[in-house]
Amino acid sequence: MVAPGPKQRYFWLRIANRAPMASSGGQRKRVKTGNGRRKAGGRKRPFVGRPGVRRAIVFGWATIVAVAVGFLLMRSMDETTVARQTPAARPAPSAVAAAPSPSPAEQLAQTPRTPVEPAPRPRETAVVAPPPPVTADEIPYDARPAWQRFAAASPVVGKRPAIAIVIDDDGLNKKEAEELLSLEAPITLSIMGYAEGMTDYARRARALGDELLVHVPMEPQGKADPGTKALTVDLSPAEIRARLRWHLDRHDGFVGINNHMGSRFSSDAAGMKVVIEELKGRGLAFLDSRTAATSVGEETARAAGIPTASRDVFLDNEIGASAIEAQLVLVERKAREKGMAIAIGHPHAATIEALRRFIPQAKARGIVFVPVSAVIARRSGEAIEAVGTTGGASGKRSGSPPPPRG
Ligand SMILES: [Zn+2]
Repeated sequence: MVAPGPKQRYFWLRIANRAPMASSGGQRKRVKTGNGRRKAGGRKRPFVGRPGVRRAIVFGWATIVAVAVGFLLMRSMDETTVARQTPAARPAPSAVAAAPSPSPAEQLAQTPRTPVEPAPRPRETAVVAPPPPVTADEIPYDARPAWQRFAAASPVVGKRPAIAIVIDDDGLNKKEAEELLSLEAPITLSIMGYAEGMTDYARRARALGDELLVHVPMEPQGKADPGTKALTVDLSPAEIRARLRWHLDRHDGFVGINNHMGSRFSSDAAGMKVVIEELKGRGLAFLDSRTAATSVGEETARAAGIPTASRDVFLDNEIGASAIEAQLVLVERKAREKGMAIAIGHPHAATIEALRRFIPQAKARGIVFVPVSAVIARRSGEAIEAVGTTGGASGKRSGSPPPPRG
């Protein structure tokens, strides 16, 4: 290899140091092929190093960063706007009183949802309105006791005979529970205290104009098992109260209780006194199922000053179409004699079928079907605001304008 001459040595040094080109014919030619501008003095910079190119690159990056920042800002502003607007779009507080206040995201998801408006059914009352989902302790504007607050709308009875149909033991059989909701009269559903998962069912029932009781298991005479956490005469007052509270606290929106079985317990004055005191504290009513002639339930309730009534007829002690029909004839006769009568049945297929036939026929004969609270109110001398008219116009217990019904 030949040792490089001075010119060549300089060239390699320049490459190594990335120094600017010197003015040399051959090298200048090479540099000229680039599109850079020549500097005064003939010295040229590498392409990327030239100020024009550098400015273009800086400008390009600045544009990209500016667009990205702008995009992010717009997105965050959109979210802020939505979050601010959503509370205004929510329904009035009364309609959501029971719901825990949802996060902005949940509010957004709920906003377009319309309140549950059940399909109208041709009931005589035509006064049912979907009540808001409420709990007993979240209605600061309504000071009435729970039995009035949660009472289903009742048609004006006037001088016509009225029947309250109460169906006990509800919630243990889901299929029959659903069928009860399709009966074309306001039914009082007594949900078994220990029944599971009844929140949605109870809400739908009330929206349809049905009324709710909690069915509290009590000790019978004999060996029949009344069920979970039944009230028995051997319990201490504290334990009776604790068990009753356990049943009551599992449900919502009910006007009172009635006894499941309980021929023994309801005849025990000391035990019933504990029960009635607890109901009184909660503003609830007591319906005496009268499973024993010796029951002291109604008289204990009356003595304590809580609204109460007793069952007039059991519909299905004998489960069979003709037996149930005979009991329905009996309750209609009692309603004509006494003005109002309370029938208690059970969610048997035969009972539901008999009611499905009986209700329209009885209506045609001038019978009015009412929630049990209407009978309790009359028998307790309580004035319950009558709502609606027999002519099919509708109204609401609360006095707010009725929703359109088909
Ligand atoms: Zn029962």
